[in-house]
This record gives sequence, structure tokens and C-alpha cells, in this order.
Amino acid sequence: MTFLPHSVSLRSALRAAAIFSLGLTLLPAVAQDAATSESHGINVANMDRSQTPGDNWFLYCNGDWIKRTELPADRARIGVFSQLDDLSNKRTAALIEEVAKSNAPAGSSQRKIADLYNSFMDEAAIEKTGLAPLEPHLKAIAAIKDKKELAFALGQTLRSDVDALNNTNFHTANLFGLWVASGFNDSEHYTPYLLQGGLQLPTRDYYLGDSEHMKEVRAKYQTHVSAMLKLAGFDDTHARAERIIALEHAIAEKQLSLADNEDIHKANNPWQQVDFAKKAPGLDWNEYFRGAGLSKVSTFIVWQPTAFAGESALVESTPLETWKDWMAYHLVEEYAPYMTKALADENFAFFGGVLQGTTEQRPRWQRGVVVVNRYLGDDVGELYAKRYFPAESKAQVQAMVANIIAAYRKRIDALSWMAASTKAEAQAKLTTLYVGIGYPETWIDYSAYEVKPDDIFGDIWRGKLFEYHRNVNRLGKQVDRHEWSMDPQTVNAVNLPLQNALNFPAAILQPPFFDPQAPAAHNYGAIGAIIGHEISHTFDTEGSTFDSKGRLRNWWTPSDFAHFEAATNKLAEQYDKYEPFPGVHVNGKQTIAENIADLGGIAASHDAFITSLKGKTAPMQDGFTGEQQFFIAFGQNYASKGREAALRQQVLVDPHSPAQYRADTVRNNDAWYSAFDVKPGQTLYLAPDERVRIW
Ligand SMILES: [Zn+2]
Repeated sequence: MTFLPHSVSLRSALRAAAIFSLGLTLLPAVAQDAATSESHGINVANMDRSQTPGDNWFLYCNGDWIKRTELPADRARIGVFSQLDDLSNKRTAALIEEVAKSNAPAGSSQRKIADLYNSFMDEAAIEKTGLAPLEPHLKAIAAIKDKKELAFALGQTLRSDVDALNNTNFHTANLFGLWVASGFNDSEHYTPYLLQGGLQLPTRDYYLGDSEHMKEVRAKYQTHVSAMLKLAGFDDTHARAERIIALEHAIAEKQLSLADNEDIHKANNPWQQVDFAKKAPGLDWNEYFRGAGLSKVSTFIVWQPTAFAGESALVESTPLETWKDWMAYHLVEEYAPYMTKALADENFAFFGGVLQGTTEQRPRWQRGVVVVNRYLGDDVGELYAKRYFPAESKAQVQAMVANIIAAYRKRIDALSWMAASTKAEAQAKLTTLYVGIGYPETWIDYSAYEVKPDDIFGDIWRGKLFEYHRNVNRLGKQVDRHEWSMDPQTVNAVNLPLQNALNFPAAILQPPFFDPQAPAAHNYGAIGAIIGHEISHTFDTEGSTFDSKGRLRNWWTPSDFAHFEAATNKLAEQYDKYEPFPGVHVNGKQTIAENIADLGGIAASHDAFITSLKGKTAPMQDGFTGEQQFFIAFGQNYASKGREAALRQQVLVDPHSPAQYRADTVRNNDAWYSAFDVKPGQTLYLAPDERVRIW
């Protein structure tokens, strides 16, 4: 689970088709705003001090930034996070370009970075090569002569391209996807999870939804599939596209919805390999697993059993020729971004244009950065961390984490509603919690990944296989709880529930969230509250599913749940009252886990800030006391600006509340009232007994 809504980390830039629409366009003018400010601590120039904190806290903290910031045409929303993203990408690009010019020796990681980047950048060579790299693969598909060979070929397409719990990605266009992680029933060892797949469009709703918008998307998809096949040299493309889409539609009908995918309790279905033929007849599973190189693996966890049964039956009932067309089209789509301009442009026009509404592709060099981050992310991350994350920063953040954990320990001990046994397990979870700061303890060894100059198709092909084999090779081995799931150059934070671990990459540990030269008040209010937010998730309804060893085991008593629910209902009611647009309210239940994490995060971080002062008075900044700086820094975490349509959509689908209301949670904290002299009658004022306290 990540800190940011709709985030896409670079390592999980999930599918070739989607990497061009991550919205990571560089905006130097805006990025500088965050990066080059001379002062340290809260950004007073961003505030609107004509506002009263107790009436309009969000504008008080961010009003002048909102006034002077323009929303670029290709963005749905921007905020401090996207500004930092831009900065991180720019720095990463500079590092890659430096390496690309350095003429590093063959076989070195620097040479690989350079070769991969340069291969992607050499459009003339790609144009000259044309369709040649596709041809052997298309021939192999054309040569499939029966369903047995089809099953083997489908097995060969399996990749480790899904992730159910960490960076959460439930989409693969291959028939199925593999996720390797610590096991639900054996948390000590790496275990294979199999997830549904088979669709090019993002979710089943795109095939099954009957809104006008979805119908329009499907009509354009038909044209697009036909165009892709034509560009790849196929005849009769209209009819082929119709059959391919009909097959995808049938697959969509068998798939589970996103909400069902996210329900962990429906996912723990261990199947022996010998069970597949019985539980999901149709596909020749022996051949499938042989093709995937998994014949010797005895047990899998099948995330969506009904989808496996349904998709397997479709392999039997759908004509071989349709499956072969489906395979060929999926191959062409997957590699289009790395092929001729005609294929790459057609891929973008649909996935970037029709699906995302963007009108322009990012400059090629930015896409090159995404490619290198995707396939050599740790090698680049190592350079990034060395350049931009000094050891003092790491030590400083570690000390903050220790103080925040200590604050949680005290708060949990003081809870009146939690049973002693539950408290003991919560404390045990804090003891075993691994908090990764800046960069991983060990880096991925890419020596088995062969990067050849001027062979971008092959480089991507081998990159995906390298990642797959890396995962398959560790099945059954001891889990490394300190393993990371985000690159250091990613601006985000993540909670890894099966590992009882948190990752805070170097790229988020930068101003305005963390500044080694800023006063403690600022750092605890900004990054401290984010750290506190992630820690809160280890105890909440999600965290209660996994114990201190990462095992799938509910460690809460029923009465704990009852009390927790009563306390959280009050918070849900508070958020239900927020009305961003006339008649449109925030959904307090849908956003409850995130709102609790925000509330608990700021409370624990505030305790830790006070502890860090050791009885001294915090220094003033621009006339603001330490207490005031703490809360303003928190409010400034949420500076953002978005289009109405995007905000309306967020209210409907996002587990995170709109930024303004996340900032407003300060109204539940007693210290905020005294810091800003907030009085009854002001909009955000809550009487002491109306303020919600959960942890
Ligand atoms: Zn969260």
C-alpha cells in the first residue's frame, strides 16, 4: 500500500503501453519552486496569511502557492509530490546522461545503463531495423498447431509483472501473472502467487461497462487493434480485431473486480499443481507450467480461482486461430513502444490519448529514463542515493523514526479499548517492523541481464525475462524482510504488509518533506507525519490481518474490533460532512483507513517532535513558534491543485480523501488549537469531546 493515490513507481511501471502516460512530464519552472528555495523549514511564501487558520486552514498554509501556480494542460492535478517527481526525474536523467557519456568498460553496470538508454534513444536505428525483431516471435506463434502447443506457448509468456499487496498492480495482458512474495501460509519462504490476466484495457469494466464513454472507448479500441495488426503486417485485420476483442470480452466476464481483488480473505487459495486440471479444466496445465519453467513447483496460491477456471475453459472453447491472433496482437502491443515510430505512435494515440486524455507524448529522453529505471532501477538508484542522499540525512531520519515508534508504543499502551493480548502483538509488530530509509541494504545483481547496444527490442525482452527468472529462482528460499519494493529515485512511500516493513525512498526524503537543515518542527510536521501515517497502517484493519511475523493471522479480538469501529465511526461522520462540490460529499467509510492513518500519523509525530526538544523551546522561524511550524509544515504536505473532473473522480474511487481535508485533520489535535488560538465559532472548531482520537 502506497502513501500516494494512483501512484506508479518506476520499478512497477507496469506495462510497456502504460509507461508513456505516467504523467511524469518535467516542468522545470514548477520544479524549481520546490527545489531551489534558499530558506529551510516552512515555506512562508506559499501561505496566505490573510486567511484565519481556524476558518480556512488549507488556504492559510497554501493559498499563495495555489494563486500563483498554473495547472499545465497535460496534467489532471499537481502538488508538492508531483513537483518533487519532476525534480527526481530530472536528476535521474542527468545521472543517466552522465553515465551514457562516460564510455564505461564493457560488462560494467554503467555500460549497461548507457547501452540501454542509447539503444532506446537511437530512433534512426530502430526505424532501420523495422519489424525484424518481431518476426521470429510471430512465426513461432503462427507455427502453433494444436491446443497442446498453445498451452506451452502461453506458459512461455508468464512474467513476474503483477503485485497484489505492495505496489498493488493487478493488471497483466498475459493470460496470467506471477507474483513472488512471502507466503500467506508460510511467511518464511518465497511463494508463487498466480493472478488473472489477459486484457489489454485496464480493467474488466472497460469491456463490460455500458456507459456511453465506455462504448466510445471500445469503438476506438476496435479501430486501434486493427491498425496495430496492419502495421505488423497482418491481413484481414478488421475481422481479426473483432475476434480478439470478443475473446478479451469473454475473459473480462470471467475476471474478478478490483474491489474483490483487494479482499485478501478471498485470495488465500493454495492449489497443488496437480489440482489445476481438476479445478480449472480446459488449458493443458502440464504444458503451461512446462512452458513457464515451473514444472517442479508443487503449490501455488491462486488469487482468483473462478477467473482461472473461466479463462482455462476459454482456452478449450475458443478456436485455436483466435488465440493465435490474440497472442500475436498482445506481443505487438507490448513491444510497440520500442519499435518503429508508426507502431509507437499508434500505441500512444490509444493508451495515452484515448484512455488518458493526454495529447502529447513525453520527450523521448524522459521515456528513456523510465525504461532504464524499469530494467536497471537499482543500478541507477545506487548512483542516485550516492549523489543525493548523504549519510547524515539517513541518520537523521532514522532518529526521527525511532522517536515516532516510541510515541506509538506509549499511545498503544494507553489505549483503553484494546485487549492486553492485542497490545502485546501490536508492540511485537513495532519490534519486528523494518523501516527502510533512503535505499535498500542490498542491490539487485544485474550481472545475468545481458544488455546489447542497438538492440532495444532484445534488451526489453531479456529485461522482462531476467526479472522473471530472478523471482522464479528464489521460490522456496528464505524471505529477505529487508528487501525493498521501490527504487530510491521514486517519490513515494510504501507499507509492505507481508514483510512488516516500510520503505521511504531517498527521493521523498528531500525538501519540502525532509530537509537536513530545517528545524525539527518542520521535519516532524512534514515527513514525520508521513512516517507516522505508514506506521499506523501496521495496526489498522489492514495491518490487523498480518501478525508480527508477516503471517496471515488475525490478532485482534472481536471486542477490539467493536471498539475500533465505534471510534472510527465518529471520524467517518466527520469526513462525510465535507462537501467539495454542491451535493458531492466525501465518503467517510471509503476513506477511513487513510484518514485514521493521517490522524494517527500527525499525533505520533507531534509527540515525537516534543520529545526531540528535550525540554527546550523550539527556535522561531519568520515569527512562527515551533508548534506553529509543525502544523504548517503538515498542512503544506497537501498543497495541490486539480481539475474539477479529476477531483470528482477522486471522491468516487480513491481511498484517500481530497488533499484539503487531509490537511484539515489538524482540527482533531488539541495542540493545534493552542498553537493558532482557534476559537468556538470558527469553521473548523471542534469542541474537545468532538475531536477524534484513535491511537
Ligand atoms: Zn496510507
